[in-house]
Amino acid sequence: MDIMFKSTRGDKNYVTASQAIVKGIAEDGGLYVPEAMPTIDFPLEKITEWNYRELAYEVLKLVLTDYTEEELKYCIASAYDEKFDTELIAPLVSAGNADFLELFHGKTIAFKDMALSILPYLLKTAAVKNGVKEEIVILTATSGDTGKAALEGFADVEGTQIIVFFPEDGVSAVQKAQMVTQQGKNTCVAGIRGNFDDAQTAVKKIFTDNELKAELKEKGYVFSSANSINIGRLAPQIVYYFYAYAQMVKAGKLAMGEKVNFTVPTGNFGNILAGYYAMNMGLPVNRLICASNDNKVLYDFFRTGAYDINREFIVTVSPSMDILISSNLERLLYHLSDSDRTRTVMSELSKGGRYEFSIDNEFTGEFATIPETFKAIHDLFYETGYVMDTHTAVAKAAYDKYIAETGDNTPNVIVSTASPYKFAKDVLKAIDSKYENIDAFAALEKLSEVSNTPIPKPIKDIDKREVLHKSVIDRDALADFVKNKLK
Ligand SMILES: *Cc1c(COP(=O)(O)O)cnc(C)c1O
Repeated sequence: MDIMFKSTRGDKNYVTASQAIVKGIAEDGGLYVPEAMPTIDFPLEKITEWNYRELAYEVLKLVLTDYTEEELKYCIASAYDEKFDTELIAPLVSAGNADFLELFHGKTIAFKDMALSILPYLLKTAAVKNGVKEEIVILTATSGDTGKAALEGFADVEGTQIIVFFPEDGVSAVQKAQMVTQQGKNTCVAGIRGNFDDAQTAVKKIFTDNELKAELKEKGYVFSSANSINIGRLAPQIVYYFYAYAQMVKAGKLAMGEKVNFTVPTGNFGNILAGYYAMNMGLPVNRLICASNDNKVLYDFFRTGAYDINREFIVTVSPSMDILISSNLERLLYHLSDSDRTRTVMSELSKGGRYEFSIDNEFTGEFATIPETFKAIHDLFYETGYVMDTHTAVAKAAYDKYIAETGDNTPNVIVSTASPYKFAKDVLKAIDSKYENIDAFAALEKLSEVSNTPIPKPIKDIDKREVLHKSVIDRDALADFVKNKLK
């Protein structure tokens, strides 16, 4: 039976999975959610027998039900291939007493590749299925990693254009270099004067601007989103929670059927929400530990029931988590209540920047400050030689706090979201303060030397590539910029 998708805010239009992927966001500004949570139709034991692609098919077919077997298998095979630098796609690596699910073996060395290497195929297939004639314009706000992964995924994909906005002063030097050197005739990148929330809010506004949409439709364009508000991002992320579980079992760290914890470095709440979906689909999960950096809105929310963005936005060393408005939380609120309540709290959020909604379920909030993050990198490196990136280190520090607080000895997986090379300068500084003033690109060579690992190919000599995108714009100029691009 087909699972239909509907808006978290109550819009009466139900759409298929492929239609939800094309639209990105619902007409009423809500996010698409499955009308009923699918459940696995295979014995859990089977997951230890499948490789990543096989597992992806078994999981995705339960969520994206209107895709045919042939379509889904084509999308999966096109996405999870030699673009990844390991056959395992998402290996589980142990260091000391921690187990890391490494999601950074794709083209842009961050976890966004897990979903964004398949999204262009899902979207193109969806456009054909639904008779979409217009060119699809992907509009994306990025806190650093989504932008590059989306650009790589969509570059030169026929029938699409991609426009990416990033906070000019809110991403790492390597992240910025990766984006502004992007090739592909259908790609466009602009820095904005503002933070990630400003960029995301402005992009969401364009998605719900019916006048602008009509005007561009005349010219032959429709918008879609590569942000985690798109269900086509969320669904592929469910897969690796099952995959991590299978690897834990195979490594003898978990008995089949036993519950596991996941600790997830969180920003927009997309990654960890996929873990929540996996649990609802039948994966044995005890707790989902939501790790925040100093922008700890989610930590406060899970502790107090008050979501409150009226606070200073802090630029940290884990920029992909520097977010106050975690879009995907809306989906959780919906699943825990209904569309009326969700619409009400979202309107309170947009008016006063605050709402209350008490949650008592599998989520626990934790956070780590910058010094705690640095210490986590430092200590694990000197104990084991394993180097974590700054985001993963937030999760490691948060997990250690969780253990100290609760004594919970449930087996745990730390979801590792980026290669340390992507944030080499801060990682080195954490390892030894003598690297404090090292140049961001010299840091790549140095990290390679210190950690005795090779610089990943995607960022080797990144500073020597030609800068192709130079625009920097004000946040209220986004719509005009887009209009100009799509003449
Ligand atoms: C995007 C990102 C995150 C946050 O993930 P969400 O799905 O937005 O919660 C964490 N770490 C890295 C490296 C990222 O790129």
